[in-house]
Amino acid sequence: MSIATALIDSSALIHNYQQIKKRAPNCLVVAVVKANAYGHDALYVASILEPYADYIAVARLSEAIALRHHGISKTIILLEGFFSGDEVPLLEKYQFQPVIHNLEQLNALQRYRLTKAITVWLKIDTGMHRLGVRPEQVESFYQQLTTLDNVATINLMSHLCHADSLTIFTTDQQIMLFNQCIKGKTGLKSLAASSGILEWPKTHYDLIRPGLILYGISPFNNKLATDFNLIPVMTLKSEIIAVRDHAAGECVGYGEIWCSSRKTKLAVAALGYGDGYPRDVPVGTPVMINGVRYPIVGRISMDMIVIDLGEKTAVNCGDEVIFWGKELAVEEIAKQANMSPYELVTRLTGRIKREYL
Ligand SMILES: *Cc1c(COP(=O)(O)O)cnc(C)c1O
Repeated sequence: MSIATALIDSSALIHNYQQIKKRAPNCLVVAVVKANAYGHDALYVASILEPYADYIAVARLSEAIALRHHGISKTIILLEGFFSGDEVPLLEKYQFQPVIHNLEQLNALQRYRLTKAITVWLKIDTGMHRLGVRPEQVESFYQQLTTLDNVATINLMSHLCHADSLTIFTTDQQIMLFNQCIKGKTGLKSLAASSGILEWPKTHYDLIRPGLILYGISPFNNKLATDFNLIPVMTLKSEIIAVRDHAAGECVGYGEIWCSSRKTKLAVAALGYGDGYPRDVPVGTPVMINGVRYPIVGRISMDMIVIDLGEKTAVNCGDEVIFWGKELAVEEIAKQANMSPYELVTRLTGRIKREYL
């Protein structure tokens, strides 16, 4: 095995896709693979899901072009659209469907002459207040879009800002606003990302946009992905590179933030914040070695993590350490680190080797 590896399980990915599809059997599905598929390798994930998904989505043009250059032929949605006029011809060339959310994009679409009109996704701001056309401007924006020769089809979308809470009214208000804005308009409608897909069936419309849950990670604070019959796709692992005797009263690592109250053995694992593991997890954050949980002690270093094995241990140098995966949920580590699981998987660095199962 190799040191510091993210093992990506394609059968878990397909399982999750099918579970998602089961929740919305009549919906089209776009597999969201932005930010290197949340750290899971966008090209690999896209190639596994291409036979299943109806669309692939990324945030940026550069991500979409990279997928095309590596042989992904499925229609790709650009969730933030295009950023400058000279990118318009690329939309036609590569079969990208941009999200349209501002006047600059509208004007750029007007200026360029394409040989074949494209499909666009009109983004409506129903409450996220980040990107999108304000509800009161949707009608005129939509009418302007319909006059463009370059636009063949106008689909409609919006994004939920608080769907990970089931007790907040915002989602209901967003659904109501979305319904008002799409009334009488043809084209596909889409509102739900992971949280909406799992807990808000009313948000499913024609097309659902799963990201996080494809990877077997829950968007909810108080639930694990396994509660929804999803399987973690990534196992983050490395190797023990030393097992050392440690005396009572001795501390370990930078800042001496932990000192042992007893004689013990400490393992050193080859992974650190230089790989993307969060530096500020508390002492006691678990790892798994040979199916058993052990606590991290001392501060996370750039390249190493120290683990307390206890005095009597069967763990040896060279054994595998799991930092998260099927038996140790990334949601649990995220909670320990006081971070979002979205961020935890996305921030893995280039030093982590990807392996595929
Ligand atoms: C990232 C993104 C998604 C996927 O979100 P998840 O919560 O990861 O499922 C869906 N739609 C849009 C517009 C996004 O930007």
